[in-house]
Formats: sequence, structure tokens, C-alpha cells
Amino acid sequence: MTYFPLSKEQQELKDIAVQLAADELAPRAAETDKTRVFPRASLDGLKASGLWGLRVSKEHGGLGADLLSTCLVVEELAKKCASTAMCYKMHVEAAELISRMPSDYQVEHFVKKIATGEILCTVAGGETSGKGDNWVPGMVLSSVEKGDDGYILDNLRKSYVTSAGQASHYFMLCRVGAETKGHKLSALFIEADKIEWETLEDWNGLGMRGNNSMPIRFNGVVPEENRIGDEGAALKYLGAIMMPVVALTYGAAYLGVASGAYELAMEEASKLHPSGAKRLDSPINQRRMAELSAKIEAARALLHVAAAAGDAGQVAAPLPYLQAKVSCSEVAVLVTQELMTMFGGTAFAGRLPFERYFRDARAGMIMGLANDDAYQTIYSMLFPEKKK
Ligand SMILES: Cc1cc2nc3c(=O)[nH]c(=O)nc-3n(C[C@H](O)[C@H](O)[C@H](O)COP(=O)(O)OP(=O)(O)OC[C@H]3O[C@@H](n4cnc5c(N)ncnc54)[C@H](O)[C@@H]3O)c2cc1C
Repeated sequence: MTYFPLSKEQQELKDIAVQLAADELAPRAAETDKTRVFPRASLDGLKASGLWGLRVSKEHGGLGADLLSTCLVVEELAKKCASTAMCYKMHVEAAELISRMPSDYQVEHFVKKIATGEILCTVAGGETSGKGDNWVPGMVLSSVEKGDDGYILDNLRKSYVTSAGQASHYFMLCRVGAETKGHKLSALFIEADKIEWETLEDWNGLGMRGNNSMPIRFNGVVPEENRIGDEGAALKYLGAIMMPVVALTYGAAYLGVASGAYELAMEEASKLHPSGAKRLDSPINQRRMAELSAKIEAARALLHVAAAAGDAGQVAAPLPYLQAKVSCSEVAVLVTQELMTMFGGTAFAGRLPFERYFRDARAGMIMGLANDDAYQTIYSMLFPEKKK
């Protein structure tokens, strides 16, 4: 359900996503998970309806969707195939900054092409927090040097790049100059066909198995006109411009894992078995389904209210976005774990796809801002240190 009142336009976008998820994503989801093949066909299936340009402004050929519609679309896709939804979410995230503050050059070369579906982009942000067992708290992103022709990427490695090797463009965060401090980040929009890159490992994750979230190494020169905004100012843009869409679409994707598994459970648990019984005859399962529905609606209500407040320009700090992200990812873990119990051996043996949802849900705890990290940030917003 969606208790939040939707506008006609929001409802229409949701309906489009429901239909596309059923027609394009659902039939390929099991195979995507099993074979780990990148869900290119499922993503291509979203193009004609304009979803690749979901948040690109109407002026530049996109759908101009607000945050709430964006959450509705991502949730519906994730209900049917979390891998495809995550690749799509990363595309929407990677397209956000350049769509919101493009130069004239970038409008023509990138933004309009995102809207028409010529560009599939992704985020090459995170790097490893250490080497092997040497875990180092707090990541400092690699630096690039500035040359006459642009930014020189010299064996620059990113750790988990969804759609690695499949994306045509990478939204990359880096420092310019080895001496530059960790918080002085710059954002580059890299064209894959104008640079050398190689994926370094196979992707064989526990969940999100169609994601291609591999390490990737870049070499080459990125022209200055591909930098988004000012040099060293990306953290400011991340906070002020990107954070709503980053955190809320994580929330929506994991909410979709929860609600997709739940919808499947409603269908399966109501089926009459040859014995004449159904799983929902059991009071413990009746209680379980009722309780899970309440938890899902609570997470969804927070997600939608945070998105709507953001759309209304009423959010000053990212607190509600992060609270929504952790709530949705945790509800996905809870719901899928309970359904694994409820459907017993049938689920464990993989005769019903609950185990896929269960594995996909785990990624929500560590992705983006990992939940522990998000809680730390939530805490610091609730209890800001007084300046001496
Ligand atoms: C399926 C998948 C797809 C991904 N796709 C992308 C992508 O497209 N682009 C991209 O840039 N990245 C991507 N990532 C990376 C992701 O966003 C995280 O950066 C990554 O999963 C963190 O893993 P790590 O081993 O570096 O975590 P670590 O930093 O080692 O963290 C491990 C644990 O340490 C704790 N911890 C770490 N830092 C803190 C902190 N500051 N405060 C409190 N606790 C902390 C937490 O408990 C955390 O769960 C993806 C990851 C996955 C799993």
C-alpha cells in the first residue's frame, strides 16, 4: 500500500514502473541471480518509457520526477529484481549532480543523452578501507594530477562499482593533487570509451548478483569540461544536492526487497495445499504477516514523508533521509529473514525465491553509507558538538 496521498503524475509514474517491473524485470530475475549476467535487457526495457532520464529536467528531455516519484519507481523495480533496481538506482544517482548543475557543454554532451537513454552511468566512489586484513577506518579517496589536457588517472582503482564494465559513463569522486585533503573532493564524469579501464575481479556477491559491482582500474586523461562544478567542492554538492536522492533511493530499493518478498508471501501463504491446509491457517503466521505489514508501512511512511518534505524544500539537514535509509534496509533484513522461517525447507532449498530476497537484503546494511556509519551521522546531527 501507499498511504501517502499521491498526485496524478506520481501515481502515473508508479503505474508505469509496476507494469515495466512485471513485464521486463520479473521474467529475468531468477536467471539474473543464478547466472550473474548483467541485466542489460531488463535495463533496456526501461528506456522507451523515459525512465533512464527519470530526474533529468523536462527542459532537457527527461521526466523531471520529484523525490517521491523516484522512490515509487525504484521500489517497484526492486520488488521484482533487486539487481536491476540497484543498477538503475546507481544510474539515477550518478546522473543527479550533472543533471542538476550542468555546464552548457554538459547539457549537450551528457544530460540530454541520459534522457534519451544513450548514456548508462554509475558511481565510482568508494575505495577499499585498507589492504587485505589491514582495515583502516575512514576512507581517503585517491588523487589525480592535473595536466595540460585535463585530469590524469594513473592506475586509479575503485572498489565496488555497480555496472562496472557495462556503464558508458562513470561519476567519479577523487582528490586533485596528492597533497589535497580528504574532504576536498572533485566530481568527474568519465566517458568509458575515451579512457582505458579494466575490471579486476569477477563479481560473485552473496546478493545483488547481477550487479557487476566489481573493482575497476582507470588510466587516461579526463578533460576539464567533464568536471562537475568547482574543483574541490564535491562534498558540498553531495550534501546539498545529491544526498536526498542517494539516501532515499537506497531506502526505496531495500523497501522494494521487503515489499516484493512480502507480496510473494501473501500469494504463496494463501495457496491451498493438497492436504487442504494453507500456511496462513497457522496463528503464528497470521501474526507474523500482520506484524511485518506494519513494519513495512512504517518504513515506507518515513521514506515517503522524507521524500515529500524534500520535494517541498522543508529539509535542512539529511537527518530524515538517513533515518529512512536505515529503516528501509533493516525492514528488508527483518522481513526476508522471517519469510525464510515461515516458508521453511521450501525457502531454504530455493524452491521459492525468498532466499534471493534474503541475500539481496543483506547488501542494504553495508551499502552507500553503511548503516553503522549512517547511525553515527544521525547521532552527530542529533547531538552536535558545541563549538568551543
Ligand atoms: C552490492 C554492492 C554494490 C555497490 N555498489 C557501489 C557503487 O556502485 N559505487 C560505489 O562507489 N560503491 C559501491 N559499493 C560500495 C558500498 O557503497 C560500500 O562502500 C562498501 O560496501 C563498504 O564496504 P567496505 O568493505 O569498504 O566497508 P568498511 O568500510 O570496511 O566497513 C565495514 C563495517 O565497518 C563499520 N564502519 C566502517 N566505517 C564506519 C564509520 N565511519 N562509522 C561507523 N562504522 C563504520 C561498519 O560496521 C561497516 O559495515 C557497493 C557495495 C555493494 C555491497
